[in-house]
Amino acid sequence: MHRLSLGDFELTALSDGTYFLDGGAFFGVVPKTLWSKKLAADDKNRVPTGLNSVLVRTGENNVLIETGIGNKLPQKMAEIYGQPAKLLENLGALGLSPEDIDVVVNSHLHFDHCGWNTVLKNGVPVATFPKAQYYVQEGEWRHAHEQQRDAISYFEANYDPLVESGQMQLVRGDREILPGISLEVYPGHTRAMQAVRVHSQAKTACYISDLIPTSAHLDLNWVMAFDLYPLETIESRKRYYARAIPEGWLTMFTHDPYLAWSYLGKDERGRVTLNRATPEEGAL
Ligand SMILES: [Zn+2]
Repeated sequence: MHRLSLGDFELTALSDGTYFLDGGAFFGVVPKTLWSKKLAADDKNRVPTGLNSVLVRTGENNVLIETGIGNKLPQKMAEIYGQPAKLLENLGALGLSPEDIDVVVNSHLHFDHCGWNTVLKNGVPVATFPKAQYYVQEGEWRHAHEQQRDAISYFEANYDPLVESGQMQLVRGDREILPGISLEVYPGHTRAMQAVRVHSQAKTACYISDLIPTSAHLDLNWVMAFDLYPLETIESRKRYYARAIPEGWLTMFTHDPYLAWSYLGKDERGRVTLNRATPEEGAL
């Protein structure tokens, strides 16, 4: 597990494990001859894909950003993607139990981002983190019920019981939920996908989720085929880089199997690059 201090806060990268996605879908219109240099595919053309959550300890609260795939996948999907289900184990290794989590944020509600929101108890989905307040965008939750192109990625059991009980709050637009912890909407992957910006003592980190899923997706045009609004992904990335690079934000990667986070820079041709002091910095 990888840890870092950010002002008064402590960030820990926590993985739910690694699963596998089709490399072509992961890199959209980018030719395999290019993307395979950054992420090698197996004999089924699949690439290893991280399930990176981040725990933010503010001193007063334990905030968990994203909850991976969880342990409730239907058998067929578990066979396709794998279901490593490592998050609670990794939380335990930090000496934390689910009761110790005060806030859970989901960037969006695809199955690989909110799976541990709930667990089955006697066949009924209940909150995994009983004392936590959960947050997601209202627009994302509405979209989850719209049966659109990505309907296969939504499972009601991951969020509807929490919305019904009032434990999950539906947020409209950008908002600070705790001092130093803000939600910011970046459309593209879905219309209402949100990033989580963490700010303490003039230092900023941002969990940018599927807007920039791995360090291999830094190029503006390397957009996943999964994205519902690819042109908006490009605009949102421009908006993000315009702040994150000059202000020196730490960018946290949701699906990078090897790198939890990195600072970003630009090369002499204006291309976005990783800006790390050592190759080990941020390595998972
Ligand atoms: Zn994702």
